[in-house]
Amino acid sequence: MSKMFDRKVIDKATEENIVYTLDDVIDGVEIEIAPMRQLGEGRWDKKLKQQLVDLSEADNYEEAKDEWKATGNCWWGYPDDPRRTPPDWMANQHIGHCLCGHIVYYHFEIENTVNGHKDVVGSDHIHAFMIVRAVSEEFGVDVNAVTERMIQQWLAVRVKGMINDAWWYANGDEFHDIFEEIKELDLRINVTTHPNKKYWDRELRQFRPVTYLRKRGSGKGAMRQLASIVWRWNHPDNSRRQIDTRGWPNAKLWKDMNLFSARLEDHIETDEKLKKAIDDRLEYIDKLDRSSRMRIAESYKRSEEAGKFSEQCVLFDIPEFNHKAKRVDRKDELFLLSLHHKIMTSTPDRIVFTPRDMDKLKEVMERINQPLATQEDLTELRRLKKIFRERNMGSRIRVPRIAYQVTIQQRIENLTRRIERDIEDEENQRGRYHPDNRGRYFANFRNV
Ligand SMILES: [Zn+2]
Repeated sequence: MSKMFDRKVIDKATEENIVYTLDDVIDGVEIEIAPMRQLGEGRWDKKLKQQLVDLSEADNYEEAKDEWKATGNCWWGYPDDPRRTPPDWMANQHIGHCLCGHIVYYHFEIENTVNGHKDVVGSDHIHAFMIVRAVSEEFGVDVNAVTERMIQQWLAVRVKGMINDAWWYANGDEFHDIFEEIKELDLRINVTTHPNKKYWDRELRQFRPVTYLRKRGSGKGAMRQLASIVWRWNHPDNSRRQIDTRGWPNAKLWKDMNLFSARLEDHIETDEKLKKAIDDRLEYIDKLDRSSRMRIAESYKRSEEAGKFSEQCVLFDIPEFNHKAKRVDRKDELFLLSLHHKIMTSTPDRIVFTPRDMDKLKEVMERINQPLATQEDLTELRRLKKIFRERNMGSRIRVPRIAYQVTIQQRIENLTRRIERDIEDEENQRGRYHPDNRGRYFANFRNV
């Protein structure tokens, strides 16, 4: 039954010969049973045309079709369903079949306004021309002034209750089972992360990305990312939730619910991983508190401020640093000084430092944890500086008081190479380029 329903309704909804106006879209018009303006040349269309002509006074379709209008009566059901009793107006009708002979589920009554003959067509054949007459009479407008939207609205009013009723009849139990099964997981899994907004999580003592229910799906196939099902169906913040705007889920939502349910095991696994990450984090925090007690006590022995800072660093899980130490880069010094102040003035309710500060701290810590140049390194640099001056190679070499070892060593290497080249040039010019001389010369220079 549900399959039959889907085929009829969904196929109609995706037909491309229906033009929705912008107004329709804004209105949220979403008609599954979409009437076409004209009958086509397909097998069932041809059959219907023939039947309409046979039951009309006119002897050709173009004139005959104007004799017909939709009455507004409609009924859903199968002829062999004992739970569905057809209404009186269906008594003499071909239940389960359209006038064209096609098997149908939704029945629409039509009437020949010339000879009074009444018949039924299915949702595939409740064509617009039958409705145009009805709309024209009901609203007192010329048939030519009847718009697509008026047709849709006329139909929507008549079929909404019917489809709603039929949908729940066919899928109600399954819907409730699936919804109960997936709603909690949906709220945790069908979410999207804000690209840069973060919030401070007191309990986990870290910035965490702000997440929202996903309002729009993306991707294709079974692995695609779904828009939140709860959001679409009945989320209290959604002013256009389907439970109110439609009463039954649209085809896409229903399909997504089934897909989500089919992949339930994967989703449970994902959810458990998320939960595990949080449990691990809580365990880490617990250990951090226990292992930091000694260190905090030690800091308090040094000074009230040092103790408080140690405490704050644990409270916000920030690696402790010395904000007064001399650093290679002045910028790093200032950053640490400023961050120290921010950490000292933060409370779990009011965090003054930012996610950006935390990223930057990581970067700065990595930098300042590099080994510094030793006295030997600096002595060697000074020695090269002297040779430079003696050889008139320039005097603008600065020997810093504090520097990273890697920087100084690079500079030493570079200067050594330049001195070697200078000596080589000198020898070439004096015509003294000889392996013996050269060897002696270099040996002296290299101080070995
Ligand atoms: Zn039909």
